[in-house]
Amino acid sequence: MIRPIDPASLVRPEVRRLSAYHLDLTPCRHKLDQNEVPWDLPRRIKLAVTEGLLETDWARYPDFHGDALRRDLGKLHGWPWEGILVGNGSNELLSTMLEAMAGPGTEVLGVEPTFGLYRMFVMRSGGVPRFLMRSDLSRPSLFMDELEAEVERNPRRPVLLCTPNNPTGDALPPEWVAALLERLEGPLLLDNAYGEFCRFDYRPLLHKYPHLVLFRTFSKAWSLAGLRLGYLMARPALVSELIKIKLPYNLGHAAVLAGRAVLAEEEEEKRRVRIIVARRAQWARMLTEEGFEVFPSEANFLLIRCASPDKALEVRDGLAARGIRIRDVGHYPGLANCLRVSVGSGMALRETHLALAEIREGKALTPRPPLPVPRARPPRERGRLAEEQRRSSPPSPGAGVLGGPGEGGRGGEGLRRATVERTTKETTIRLALSLDGGPRKIEVPNGFFAHMLQALATHAGLGLDLRAGGDTHVDLHHTVEDVGIALGEALTSALGDRRGIVRFAHAYAPLDEALARAVVDLSGRGTFSWNAPREVAAGWVTADFPLTLVADFFQAFADRGRLTLHLDVLTARNGHHAAEAAFKAAALALRAAISVRSGSTEVPSTKGTLSV
Ligand code: PMP
Repeated sequence: MIRPIDPASLVRPEVRRLSAYHLDLTPCRHKLDQNEVPWDLPRRIKLAVTEGLLETDWARYPDFHGDALRRDLGKLHGWPWEGILVGNGSNELLSTMLEAMAGPGTEVLGVEPTFGLYRMFVMRSGGVPRFLMRSDLSRPSLFMDELEAEVERNPRRPVLLCTPNNPTGDALPPEWVAALLERLEGPLLLDNAYGEFCRFDYRPLLHKYPHLVLFRTFSKAWSLAGLRLGYLMARPALVSELIKIKLPYNLGHAAVLAGRAVLAEEEEEKRRVRIIVARRAQWARMLTEEGFEVFPSEANFLLIRCASPDKALEVRDGLAARGIRIRDVGHYPGLANCLRVSVGSGMALRETHLALAEIREGKALTPRPPLPVPRARPPRERGRLAEEQRRSSPPSPGAGVLGGPGEGGRGGEGLRRATVERTTKETTIRLALSLDGGPRKIEVPNGFFAHMLQALATHAGLGLDLRAGGDTHVDLHHTVEDVGIALGEALTSALGDRRGIVRFAHAYAPLDEALARAVVDLSGRGTFSWNAPREVAAGWVTADFPLTLVADFFQAFADRGRLTLHLDVLTARNGHHAAEAAFKAAALALRAAISVRSGSTEVPSTKGTLSV
């Protein structure tokens, strides 16, 4: 006769006392509750990974420690690859490292509020969390003083800190971390999951302090949360010890291939980070205007405080009813009435703003376009995907480069003209371009954008007949970007094989106090680099035109026009001046680059071609 046994009673009591991590994963319009970036990876990267995966032998174990990926990471960070360890998300590595470094009964120092899973990781190792409570969120130096005092008392205990900290978003200056390391004799586990969005860089500390372990993840800035990949950096001598305890084969082929593929496309990651950092300021401004206390953030999310518990619930549930999911962190120690919001796409920003205004005014729900849930993409990729879809389906009269006979829409003999029509679910664009002047007629659904395009056409000496319409009720962004795509495609088409052109040019354009510089190379490759002074970079030019749209427009234009464009606003007092100077500088440089070298029919390239 078998005695009745409660299976749950077989589990260690401290584990039974924990509550399970739970999240709502049902689809929603804007998922702003898990600090992910809003964009999936470009399809071409996913395809490359998939192809790589097809070529691997699935019957064979992967590399024991993912050495190829470790080497790539070593190159990225300029750190010996033997001092890098990769794992199935940084969560796994944090937990494994605590097992290696803490052990039964060891106190692990930390600070709350912080990432909720740390307690569980410490318990798994048999250690005892000793997490100090931050009494005043606005004064982080206070808890650092307290922590240092604890370290003085017993300098050998491991310390686990998160910077930028989840869920508060603030980050510790590296000097403070260094001061702590000076006193500490045990390991400092520094979770830098949001490091890419932060102005502080802790990597140089690794050179000086042998007891520092820095944790990073591919789940945030690298858009790989779904494939589970993280890593740590420390001294090689420490990593060789840690390797003994981590589970073998902890990474499958898929994660290793994906990690290597995204590292090879570092520019994509940088672009995502730039957009998120610029948008973070826009989100912060919007949330402040909506009446929340917004805490400064160095991460890709914002912590906000509501005036009362009721208000917090109303906001959380009101947004959820409108398909916008944010995180209620009110139960974290010291965070009563607080919510956490990931920095989402431009569309998410607008819809959240609208939703918050409705909630504030007690208005009924505005009907939204129905699900399927939009899969936001970074600006360039959305266009590219549309292009891929267009290519993989038979050409329709609604999309493509049209025009006279000859090279894909280029006008007749000697005429540098092209016509482009583009219709997608988001925009409809018809555009006729002449590189050698002509009438200018521009109809786009935004006054400021029209003004900029007029400046571009005028100062570049272009003839331009443009009619564009789009889903501006959703976001002006689609229209701006798709006009950039169409104009770029028209340029490529009108330039033909780029024979006899000047090719390289640069120009400065002032607008009162603002000064912009554009350097152009009609190289046949699409590259865009953009810089604007911090004070205006994240600002709004007009109420519905953020300065980031200028970059998005030129990004799309450079991509499809297959030109290299370095566009720098060197100084500007406001967004309007910055944008206008940028458009004018780009126009002037373009005018010179597309001009014809008299009597030359040469392709200005040592390769002999600019068209492939
Ligand atoms: N550290 C912190 C502070 C986090 O917020 C998260 C994820 N939310 C992680 C680590 C986990 O990262 P990963 O996906 O690499 O396991």
